[in-house]
Amino acid sequence: MSQLQRIAIAPSQLQQEQILLTKEQQHYLERVLRLREGDRFIAINGKGKWWLAQLEGEKAQILESLTVETELPVSITLMVALPKGNGFDDVVRCCTELGVGVIVPVVSDRTLLHPSPQKLERWLRIAQEAAEQSERSFVPTILEPVSFMTSLATGTANYSYICEARGSYPHLREAINQVSTTSDIIIATGPEGGWTDKELKHALDAGFQPVSLGRRILRAVTAPVVALSVVAAQLESLTFDSAS
Ligand code: SAM
Repeated sequence: MSQLQRIAIAPSQLQQEQILLTKEQQHYLERVLRLREGDRFIAINGKGKWWLAQLEGEKAQILESLTVETELPVSITLMVALPKGNGFDDVVRCCTELGVGVIVPVVSDRTLLHPSPQKLERWLRIAQEAAEQSERSFVPTILEPVSFMTSLATGTANYSYICEARGSYPHLREAINQVSTTSDIIIATGPEGGWTDKELKHALDAGFQPVSLGRRILRAVTAPVVALSVVAAQLESLTFDSAS
């Protein structure tokens, strides 16, 4: 199945057993991917549904619904303080490949970037492409940028961690030993200048546990990718152990 091309569709495009293709999708399927009438491809709705579909001009016929097992067993939300320049593009791309569920772009006290409204569209596009490339069944949700204090007040999860580059904190890998596959997790990472003491205090008051990602200081772009890799490795080994 993996050699078939995938395209993302919106729920409104589904009508009974057919997909009404947009002009852009028709162009992409026929001109870019060079599919012809009768060729098959995979349609995904970004919310866990995949279908095997067959191209029929302006429409595609759904042949069957597919089962995919490429998602992490736990929902992970990353609250990422926006890094400078286009660094957040890489965060979105890499973390989508690694299985993130929700990304919250955060404006913290030391955040230097104040994103334009077009940035969100760009990140959504990057997430969609990365989800297709990594054969995920979900496209992660990317929220509008919010202040760190707002994100603390609105985010709820069974386990919440804040990554702090300095200080003597348990490693995230040890901290997530308590997590089971029925939990959900929030992980917050700071900007180039780090969290302020006030932000750290507010996070702890909100129930976040401070954690380390090792002895080296990681860039603001690297930290969320490392945090997610650590958690994904731990959680997937839990699932594989219980399956064997
Ligand atoms: N300027 C800060 C300092 O000197 O302490 C470093 C900030 S670091 C470039 C950006 C963010 O990545 C930090 O706020 C933290 O969330 C995360 N981070 C980087 N290295 C880390 C580490 N070794 N352990 C935990 N978090 C880390």
